[in-house]
Amino acid sequence: MRLKLLPNRRQGTQSATADVGPPGARYVARMPQSLASGARIPYTACPLCALTELRQVRVDSCATHPLYDPRIPAEMRWMQCLGCWHIFTEGYFTPAACEVLFSRTNTNQQVGHDFERQRPVSARIVEKVLPWAQDGAWLDVGCGNGSLLFTAQEYGFSAVGTDLRAGNVETLKKCGIDGLCVDLLSLDAPETFRVISMADVLEHMPFPKAGLAHARTLLKPDGVVFLSMPNLDCIPWKLLDGQKQNPYWGELEHYHNFGRRRLYALLEETGFRPVRYGISERYRVCMEVIAQRM
Ligand SMILES: [Zn+2]
Repeated sequence: MRLKLLPNRRQGTQSATADVGPPGARYVARMPQSLASGARIPYTACPLCALTELRQVRVDSCATHPLYDPRIPAEMRWMQCLGCWHIFTEGYFTPAACEVLFSRTNTNQQVGHDFERQRPVSARIVEKVLPWAQDGAWLDVGCGNGSLLFTAQEYGFSAVGTDLRAGNVETLKKCGIDGLCVDLLSLDAPETFRVISMADVLEHMPFPKAGLAHARTLLKPDGVVFLSMPNLDCIPWKLLDGQKQNPYWGELEHYHNFGRRRLYALLEETGFRPVRYGISERYRVCMEVIAQRM
């Protein structure tokens, strides 16, 4: 499957421009010498509902994160919107900071990592989707180790992946799966996909509402999105907080901590109807939600 890109986007520049900025904004990548002038672009309003009344709720450290680089500030400030109660970091990374972050890859994000053990985990995801889609094109956004794409193809879908790490996309192509090193907002393929999976992706996007809205345009009218991310509305999340063991307050690459309630509201705001809730086997205290295009 050949996919087109929107004219103001270019393949291969992704590592530094990953969904950065509001829709339409563009930034020029440059190699960072120092990020002293600020690694984050502050949110001046809630990234979901645009309300400007915000409060700081926590300050945590990402210094022990495996991808931490001393050029990036170790402090993570978490804000809350006083309108929709969404929780998010004080800002999202500049292109220069993204360049630093994306220069390294966690082992478990590399295509082919642990592929035999990942296969049954991915199969259970595909099987959760099957009641709503049995064939057609499946786009996996941020395909990471590629396992979900390998498995979707095995089940008869036509699999396409995007990833922000160029090396991953090259490996994916060598495995025989179409891949693009672009962000979701770059794809120009209206009503193409039966399924778009964004497994542990939305919380990495500076503006997830724009991402979901764009995903909707890429879906066929009867298409579905599969989403997974941590769920702060669940009791295990609060237990981890109580033990001071909750990894997500120091998760360097996350900009958002969603709960089920806010995610469901966001889905409805962007033209989706949630049809299935489940929990994730991939990461701790994560939820999996399937939502149908309305
Ligand atoms: Zn809000």
